[in-house]
This record gives sequence, structure tokens and C-alpha cells, in this order.
Amino acid sequence: MQWLGKNKDGYRGERIEIREILSDALEAARKHGWQIETLAAAPGLILYAVSRVIPTATRNIYLSTGIHGDEPAGPLAVRQLLQEDAWPAHANLWLCPCLNPTGFPLNRRENAGGIDLNRDYRHLESPEIRAHVAWLDRQPAFDLALGLHEDWETHGFYLYELNPDNRPSLAERVIAAVSRVCPIETARIIEDRPAQNGIIRPQMDPTQRPRWPEAFYLISRKTRLSYTLEAPSDFPLPTRVAALATAVNAACNQGPITPSPVLYARG
Ligand SMILES: [Zn+2]
Repeated sequence: MQWLGKNKDGYRGERIEIREILSDALEAARKHGWQIETLAAAPGLILYAVSRVIPTATRNIYLSTGIHGDEPAGPLAVRQLLQEDAWPAHANLWLCPCLNPTGFPLNRRENAGGIDLNRDYRHLESPEIRAHVAWLDRQPAFDLALGLHEDWETHGFYLYELNPDNRPSLAERVIAAVSRVCPIETARIIEDRPAQNGIIRPQMDPTQRPRWPEAFYLISRKTRLSYTLEAPSDFPLPTRVAALATAVNAACNQGPITPSPVLYARG
């Protein structure tokens, strides 16, 4: 598997046409009977949330992506997952397919106003996150929350686990599944935190942190088990999409792990 070495001081890889990707994702959701909600963040600024609630559900799962406009693999993976429609049978699902629609056309992490939305969940300074949090607060508690991201500096896939009650961890099974389609980051320190085989388990108290990522909000108010999934964005885009889609399937489907049909040899 080739590390491309393209990303010099930021993401320099493929871009996506976010409107097109979102439109495909919503169409797939509609086709498979999901409910689509539009969240009006500001005039001309709309976020989407899609959900599938079924009477036989035993679990509530939440997913989000596209909060950083220079991380195209997340919205692509979510589109693929909605099109494949291979979700677990007994789960309710809530999914935000793109939280930063103004960042993607600029290929930049922040929104068009220069705010890193994934640091805005404590003070709610941006219209996007105000709308998102208002929507989140109307939803039930989640048994599992997954955030799909990319990291332009890493040499492999890794994840953050927030699991304050020491529930059965999904981290090892996610890493095992992803390792079949994408290299895993083996560094012992990732983003200044101790890591083991691509797993970071930060010990931190959100109340001590001035600026909250989405995961802190979720772990404080909505869930007790959260994963932030980080694909290595200096690898070919199909590999990163496969890594994220495989990670979601491994986390959501509790049965035996099946490899994603997209193998990284293709990248
Ligand atoms: Zn990110």
C-alpha cells in the first residue's frame, strides 16, 4: 500500500463536489425508506439529518461526517453505506451526512466563516453547530456514536474511543476489520496522545476543555460510547472510503466481521 506523500502542510488530494455527493446520499436514504430532515442553520445554509426508526430496534446508533471540509472520504463513505443499505436489522439509525457544507467547496477544514466546527460544541458560535445541537437534543440517547474523519498527516487508519463506563469495546474489532482494506497507524504517539495499534483512549474530562469537538458533546449528553474514525488522507481516496465504510460496518454489525468488497489493492 502506497503512501502518496502528497500532503505537505495540509490536505492536497482529491476534492469532491459535495452537493452531488449529498444529493446521491439523500436519494439513497429516501429510496430505502429513511426519513429526511432539513435543518435550517441560516438563510441559504441547510444541513441534513436522515433517520431510520424501526419498531423491532434494540439499539440506537448515530453517525456523522463532513464536519471538516478537507476530509472528502467521510461523505463518500456515508453515501456508499446508504446506497448499500446493509445496516444491522435491529437498530435505529440517525445520520448527519455533511455538517460543514460551506467548507468542502473551499477544500478547507473550517466553515466559510473560518470556524473549526469540530471545536464549537461547547460555545455554539456557528449557525451549523447551533442547528446541529438543537436537532441532537430532540433525539433519544444513542448506544453508539460514530464520527467519520480523515487525518492528512497519518500513515494509517486510527480511532479515538471515548468509553467512560468501560463498556465492551468495539475498537479491536474495528481495527481488525479495517486492517484488511487499509494500513493501520502503528505509531505509539498519535496527535500527542499514547496509542496502541491504531487505538487512542484519551483520559480526559470534557469540563476541563475550553473547546469541544462533537465527540465531547455526544459523550456528555447523548451517549456513553463514541468512536472518532480517522482515515489516512495521504492514501488513495478509494482506500480511505473503504476504511471508513468497513469501520462503520464492523462497529454497527455485531456478527462476524466480513471484509468490505472494496479491497485496498485496488487503490
Ligand atoms: Zn476531521
